[in-house]
Amino acid sequence: MMLAVPPQFVVSLLVAVSALLIGNHGLWAGRPGENGPRPQFSAVIADAGDVTEAKAAQWKIEGFRAAVLILEDRHSATVLASAAKALADNSLALYFWVEVARDPELARSHPDLMASLGMHDDWRRHFPKFPQAGPNEVVKAWPWVPICYRDAFAAHKDRIKRLLARLPAGYTGLLLNDLQGGPASCGCGNLQCRWAVDYGVPATAARQPGSDAAARFVADIGKLTAGKELIPVWTTECEHEDLPRARLTAKDWATGYCGGVPCFETCRKRFGEQWQAMTGDRQGPVGLLVLSREFHRDRKEYGGPGAWVKQVLDYIEKQTLRPLPRQKVWLVVQGYEVSREEEAAARQHALETGAGAVLVARRRLDQSYEPRMVKRPVGPIP
Ligand SMILES: [Zn+2]
Ligand SMILES: [Zn+2]
Repeated sequence: MMLAVPPQFVVSLLVAVSALLIGNHGLWAGRPGENGPRPQFSAVIADAGDVTEAKAAQWKIEGFRAAVLILEDRHSATVLASAAKALADNSLALYFWVEVARDPELARSHPDLMASLGMHDDWRRHFPKFPQAGPNEVVKAWPWVPICYRDAFAAHKDRIKRLLARLPAGYTGLLLNDLQGGPASCGCGNLQCRWAVDYGVPATAARQPGSDAAARFVADIGKLTAGKELIPVWTTECEHEDLPRARLTAKDWATGYCGGVPCFETCRKRFGEQWQAMTGDRQGPVGLLVLSREFHRDRKEYGGPGAWVKQVLDYIEKQTLRPLPRQKVWLVVQGYEVSREEEAAARQHALETGAGAVLVARRRLDQSYEPRMVKRPVGPIP
């Protein structure tokens, strides 16, 4: 007798089974918040307002051990409590996720705190109609408001404090994404060039000194979430193949993502400093955003959907003499705007790296920007 089994179920089952086999401690009965080494696990990232008992039960079947809920100002304490119950009923651990820099509300009320597009104008090839900045104008990356600016740092802390007040008791931890600069920060147009602040363009707000704004931000939030896990999520900078064609050899392949700007070596060094500041004394895990379609890294040259993750780990491990053990790396892969087969492939590639956790984003973690013209303040910046 033939049983009609939907193909997406087969894919889910294969991923769930391989997750159990690859997790070298076999079946994991503990919760992710426990101290000490823990077996590899998978989690789903979803909207906090979009959790039902049926969805939680389905996630369990798919082999997820935890759910990471994206927290926004529109989510009430009631909605969050009911999400927490659905997850607890299905014995899934609960984490929350905040998109820090990408904040349309703050960008609207404080356009001066938005990230600048740096002095290179290669980003204009994606926005050919955007006007040139006048003498008292700066082009910003809407809606990115990074913590690199003093007042944005404070505003984001206040916002997280407000959000934390609504969380149900019993959640395991909090993930903080977008703690670096804005996308295309040098102006090359690459969404992953994040290290720079007001690169060669006039500032409109006072900035934080040093390379450790993210580390200080995480430490400050840690005081508000005592007893919970706190996981910063990081994005790697541009890759070698993003260099201009003229800087590559004939046998190299090229993405063209940095336009004509050879920023790779500089970005790599600055990344190394920021990564070191973030991870140097960290005990807990660090997340890495490896959204292959969002970052246009789903090209065949990487080895098919989701295969780019291996290169990201290589990149990270070359940046420091004391690389973070893979068990402490949590990989965030793309499960939205891709087929279920692509999602399964990305999850599988990520599990095979030996990372501590693989988080499958089923809601968009938007990494795009739009140019916006902002007036420069008159007089010196306070
Ligand atoms: Zn760049
Ligand atoms: Zn770069």
